[in-house]
Amino acid sequence: MDAFELYCKRFNEYLNSLPIEKIRMESEKGLKQNEEEFQDFREKFARGFCSYCGLSLLSFVKSKPCPHWLLKPKGFRKRFFPILYSIKSFHELEAYLRWVANSEILVRNMAHDKLSEI
Ligand SMILES: [Zn+2]
Repeated sequence: MDAFELYCKRFNEYLNSLPIEKIRMESEKGLKQNEEEFQDFREKFARGFCSYCGLSLLSFVKSKPCPHWLLKPKGFRKRFFPILYSIKSFHELEAYLRWVANSEILVRNMAHDKLSEI
């Protein structure tokens, strides 16, 4: 058994030792927190602001790396990606882009609703 297999075996044993109610509570807590963060993100995104840094989604401040740089604000260049990677993992950046994709549909629908009211 190599080190990775041993790690997996121990992690499995650890998970199996946890009471099912504790796992359920932690899972629900995590889901609730994620939902709250997504709601905050969507509200600010719809107004053109970033829920992480609080700045406009159109802003680019080199000294304040933020996932909203993936939206290519003016001044952002590919060479700044390593700065972004240094603060967020691939999975965090991917999750951010998923939220953006979901929110753009929401914002598009809201804009459509507003236009149909006119
Ligand atoms: Zn930001």
